[in-house]
Amino acid sequence: MQRRKVTPAHVANVTIGAPNPVVVQSMTTTATLDTEASVAQTISLANAGAQLVRLTAQGVQHAANLENIRAGVRAAGVDVPLVADIHFNPAAAFEAAKHVEKVRINPGNFFDPGRTFRKMTFSDSDYAAELEKIRDKFVPFLQLCKENGTALRIGVNHGSLSDRIMSRFGDGAEGMVESAMEYLRICRSEDFNDVVISIKASDVPLMTQTVRLLVGRMAAEGMAYPLHLGVTEAGNALEGRIKSAVGIGSLLIDGIGDTIRVSLSEAPENEIPVARLIVSHCDAVRHSSTKPLGAYGNSRRINRTVDPEQSTLRFEAQGPEAVHAIAKAIDETAGNHPVVMAIRYDDTDFNSLVVKAAVDFGSLLLAGYHDQIEIVSPLLTEDDAEDLSHKIIQAAGLARFQAEIVACPGCGRTLFGLPEALEKVKEACLHLKHLKIAVMGCIVNGPGEMAGADYGYVGAAAGKVSIYRGIECIHKNIDQDTALEALIDLIKADGQWIEKGADND
Ligand code: SF4
Repeated sequence: MQRRKVTPAHVANVTIGAPNPVVVQSMTTTATLDTEASVAQTISLANAGAQLVRLTAQGVQHAANLENIRAGVRAAGVDVPLVADIHFNPAAAFEAAKHVEKVRINPGNFFDPGRTFRKMTFSDSDYAAELEKIRDKFVPFLQLCKENGTALRIGVNHGSLSDRIMSRFGDGAEGMVESAMEYLRICRSEDFNDVVISIKASDVPLMTQTVRLLVGRMAAEGMAYPLHLGVTEAGNALEGRIKSAVGIGSLLIDGIGDTIRVSLSEAPENEIPVARLIVSHCDAVRHSSTKPLGAYGNSRRINRTVDPEQSTLRFEAQGPEAVHAIAKAIDETAGNHPVVMAIRYDDTDFNSLVVKAAVDFGSLLLAGYHDQIEIVSPLLTEDDAEDLSHKIIQAAGLARFQAEIVACPGCGRTLFGLPEALEKVKEACLHLKHLKIAVMGCIVNGPGEMAGADYGYVGAAAGKVSIYRGIECIHKNIDQDTALEALIDLIKADGQWIEKGADND
C-alpha cells in the first residue's frame, strides 16, 4: 500500500506529505505569556521527539509573545518549527503569522462567531454572500502568510462547527467536510499550497469516516492537501492511547495521514512515544499489504450475516501482516460462521502491545469485521486481555463497558490541574457506563467541544470549575476542591447515579 499522494506543505525545515515520513507533533500546556516556561516545555518536547510544537495564542498579546518564545528556543539551538493555535481571534492569527512557522485556524470560529446552536436560514444567494465575506477577510491573511513563509493548518473540530455550517450542512461528517472545503477552495484560488488540513472528533468512528469523506471530496475537486490526524478529547491513560491508536491507526494503515498528534490529558511529552509507536506499527502493517483495509468501510456489517448456530472458527495471526491475514481469512472462508479474530503479540513492552493491539483490532472493527477479538500475549492475564479488548471495542464505538470519558489535553488556556482532576473524576465515575462525562480545560472552548457529553467538569478560572449538565451550566465558578462532589451530587439528583458494583446494564 502506497501512502496517499499529496501536495507537500513546507513548515520551515519540515515537509509534511509523502514520501516524507509521517511527522509527529504535540502542544504545550504552559501559559503562552510565561516565556520561560513555554521555552522550556517546547525544548523538552523537541528533545522528546516532537517535530512540530504548537502553542495556544488566545489573544494578540499572546501571539506577540511567540516572538520571544521562538527567540528563546532558537537561542538554545533547537530548530523545531512552532505553530500558533488560534480560536475566535483573527487578529491574533495575523500577529502570530509574523512570528511562527505555521498557524492553525479553526474555520468554525475564525470569522464565524462561536456556535450557539442557533438555526439560521439562508437562501443560496445569502449563503454565497457569507462566503464572499469570509473570502474578503481570509485572502489578506493568506497574503501575509505568503510574505512571511508561514504555513497554515485548517483545523476543523466536530465540537466547534459554526451555526452557519450546521444550519446548512448539519452537525456531522457533511458539515465538518464542507467547513474545511470552503477554506481550502479559497487557498487554492489564491495558489496558497503550504496547507495542512485536520478534521477531528472525539468520536472515533465519526473522525475516521469524516477524514475518508474529506479525502474523497478533495480528490473530486482536484485537491490533495496533506492531512493532520488526531482524536480530540481522547483523555488519558489506556483509554487515551487506545482511542488515538484506533482512530489514527485505522487511517494510517490505509496510507491516509501525513502528520499526527496524539492528544493525552497528561504531560505532553508522554504523547510522543505513543505517536511514534503508532506510526512505526502502521508503516509495517501498510507495507504488508497491497490494498487498503478500509476499502470495505462499514458495508461489511451488512454483507456478512453470522449464524450463531454454526460452529465458531478461530483465525490466529501474528506480526504486521496479521490484520490483512485475518480480514482475508474471514472474506474467503468464514461464510456465516461466527469468528474469533486472534492476534498473538510477543512484545515485552506493555505500551507497544497496547498500541499494536489497538491499531490492529480497531482497524478490523472499524472496517466492519465485527467478530470476537482475542489478544494473545504472555504479558497479559486473562482479565487484562479482556479489559484491553473492551476498551478497544468501546473506542471503535461498538459497545460501552465503562463511562465514556471526554477530556481535552489542556493547553495554555488551562488554569487548573487538569490531569489530577481527570483522574479523580475517572475514579469516582468510570463505572457509570451509561454516561458520557467531559473534563475540559477551559471555559472558552470546553463547553462547545464537550461532544454531546451528559455532564461536564470545565475549568473556569484559576482554581475554579463550572459543572455542566449537557450544554447547561449548573454550577458556575465553584472551588475546584468542591467540584467533584458537586458533579456527583448533580448526577445523583438527576437519578443517574449507580453505586459501584451494582448492575448497570
Ligand atoms: Fe485548551 Fe482544552 Fe480549552 Fe481546548 S478545551 S482550548 S485544549 S484548555
